Amino acid sequence: MKSEILALLRERADYVSGQELCERFKVSRTAVWKAINQLKKEGYRIEAVQNKGYLLAKEEEVFGQHELESRMQTAWAGKPVTFYDTIDSTNLRAKLEAESGAGHGTLIVADMQTSGRGRRGRSWNSPAGTNVYFTLLLKPEFAPDKASMLTLVMALAVAEGIRVTTGIDTGIKWPNDIVADGRKVCGILTEMSVEQDYIHYVVIGVGINAGKQEFAPEIAATAADLEEICGNKIPRATLVAEIMKAFEKYYALFLQNLDLSGLLEAYNAVCVNCGKEVRVLDPKGEYVAFAKGIDPAGELLVETADGNIQAIYAGEVSVRGIYGYV
Ligand code: ATP
Repeated sequence: MKSEILALLRERADYVSGQELCERFKVSRTAVWKAINQLKKEGYRIEAVQNKGYLLAKEEEVFGQHELESRMQTAWAGKPVTFYDTIDSTNLRAKLEAESGAGHGTLIVADMQTSGRGRRGRSWNSPAGTNVYFTLLLKPEFAPDKASMLTLVMALAVAEGIRVTTGIDTGIKWPNDIVADGRKVCGILTEMSVEQDYIHYVVIGVGINAGKQEFAPEIAATAADLEEICGNKIPRATLVAEIMKAFEKYYALFLQNLDLSGLLEAYNAVCVNCGKEVRVLDPKGEYVAFAKGIDPAGELLVETADGNIQAIYAGEVSVRGIYGYV
């Protein structure tokens, strides 16, 4: 009920009487009063005036459970959502939840991770109070070989969520990084549990550098945050809700053909490697090639010096710009 009260107070932007809240949620005055007090404890400034009711002060979002619930506008993605102040890793938590029966669309969000992870055992720096870390749990009914494409679906959703919330046009560094001004503002890590030709679950983890921060020396040259780029504070719960909304839309397009054919144009338009020379870091040997764009399977098509076109699969290789990270 607290999230619904919050949504109503925000929407009305004027006093809402205690009576109206009681009738709307079919609870007693004491129950309304308790809910309001709990919201105040969580950091919301709610003014209570006799004979007028309750008024929510317009101010920064409180990044937490009720803010997230009250902003979610989706049918299934991000429902339910659970917020943690601190967690080891949102992907690990989502996997545990999946094992114990959590459903398709469950979302785990945290303000801080103590063991944030990247691809191939790398780590994701996850300080408190400034960033966004979340994992979306999916229980799809398609074959396991399709699942790696979900990283690209999420990348598109993140780019759209960032654009809608902050106005920043980001790019996607194939396959899983969101970049702005040539630096990384977001990483995506997809993991899954499969049995032969059956997917138990897929978890898609996302870490976004939202607010201003000092980056650790080893990533200072390649990382950026959204606040530094747009000069404004980032409403983190709104950002998560907008990404869920975009994900739902792109996921439906993906399901139509079980590939990225319906998303190719959108992806290639924001892919920062496409139409450029890249360094392909293949475990069998590094080489330079011209990246043409992705194919419907989400592989990057590159043309090598001898004119051959190769489709490279994200699982094994990384791609870099000729002179740097992008
Ligand atoms: P690839 O191209 O293979 O994806 P990557 O270096 O982008 O390579 P990821 O697994 O996507 O690798 O992300 C992990 C890496 O991202 C870390 O090794 C580190 O270099 C960098 N990193 C870690 N935390 C952050 C952060 N908060 N912001 C930006 N970059 C980070």
